[in-house]
Amino acid sequence: MSLQKTIERTISYKGVALHLGEEVTLTLVPASAGEGIVFMREDIAHSPRISARVNKVFSNMRGTSLGEGEVRVRTVEHILAALAGLEIDNVLVKVDGEEIPAADGSALPFVDLIQKAGVVEQGLPRQFFKIDEPLWIEEEDKRLIVLPYPGLKITYTVDFPDSSIKSQFAEFTVDEKVFIQEIAPSRTFGFMEEVEKLRRKGLIKGGSLENAVVIDKNGILNKEGLRFSNEPVRHKVLDLMGDLYLLGKPIQAHIIAVKSGHLFNVKLIKKLEELKNRKRIVLNIDDIERVLPHRYPFLLVDRILEQGEREIVGLKNITVNEPYFVGHFPGHPVVPAALIIEAMAQVAGVYLLSASKNRGKLAYFAGIDKARFRKPVVPGDQLITRVKVLNLRSSTGKVQATSSVDGKIVAEAEFLFSLVKR
Ligand code: ZN
Repeated sequence: MSLQKTIERTISYKGVALHLGEEVTLTLVPASAGEGIVFMREDIAHSPRISARVNKVFSNMRGTSLGEGEVRVRTVEHILAALAGLEIDNVLVKVDGEEIPAADGSALPFVDLIQKAGVVEQGLPRQFFKIDEPLWIEEEDKRLIVLPYPGLKITYTVDFPDSSIKSQFAEFTVDEKVFIQEIAPSRTFGFMEEVEKLRRKGLIKGGSLENAVVIDKNGILNKEGLRFSNEPVRHKVLDLMGDLYLLGKPIQAHIIAVKSGHLFNVKLIKKLEELKNRKRIVLNIDDIERVLPHRYPFLLVDRILEQGEREIVGLKNITVNEPYFVGHFPGHPVVPAALIIEAMAQVAGVYLLSASKNRGKLAYFAGIDKARFRKPVVPGDQLITRVKVLNLRSSTGKVQATSSVDGKIVAEAEFLFSLVKR
């Protein structure tokens, strides 16, 4: 199991922003486990924050920019790629301007910065974004294909037939070392014909041969040449990694990209999130009634949200119409603690009785341990119960359950069940 990581200490970097041309100081600050990557505009009153998530993307023109209300943070993809590549899960990225500094057009200066700050492991396990089946999007000549894969692999093809780079191909099985050596150093590139057009639009004010590879019909304008013969396609891999980090967790998949860009990358990420949200409803009430013998008014699970290896999460919506509220207590409805225990046991029951060897059995309580009730549960609450299976045999099962409302734990307990034939 790998643990989440943040940086060891606060560190800053000053540089010119590519599009707006202003000098910006970027400061990386350690963040707690579970906080994720969050940007903060420290030059604006109340220092508003924007989390690095795909639902905050407001523009994909020449880079990926995040926005919330009037607040913007532009061109986030290279710092996000560096954070993804170095497996940093939690960090606060402060900026005193609207755009992230361009640095040298690659992610390498950000890699150096993170390494200088140091990297520390945190108390929570890393969560990965995984898929069970292939998924793809296509539009004109663009393709993004996502295949299940136990790590991260990126295959990329670009084609610029009218320029000197023509077609380029790259494929990487990405880990930290591969990212640092093969992907991070590759710089942003642009075409000479576009430079004037972009300048007229008020873009690339900070652009120069110091922070971008400029290509024309005859070749590369930068005197020092390219860092890799296929540097442009490698940079597209870098951009894709930065954009993918907007999933909020590292993806484990093989991604095949053909002629993609930020706008198309973001479309894929939205589709991936959508799929995840749909996938989360694993069992509806009909499915639950097929496994559990309980019925109204004693069925206390509405839906199973997630079911994994030795883990299950169930939901119960508490309405004012629950029959027990009539007497518990008149004028002051509170869910009886014993029924929270029962709701926990039923979620566990779905897991235990779904196992093929236990089909058709009943689960009886054999013991309850370490039960604690921390907050009252009332009408309108959504009770989420997470059960971890500690032990499962053919005639007994031991589980640990935690119920929460709005992310706050309301009750917890350990249960021992005996599984008996009907
Ligand atoms: Zn880029």
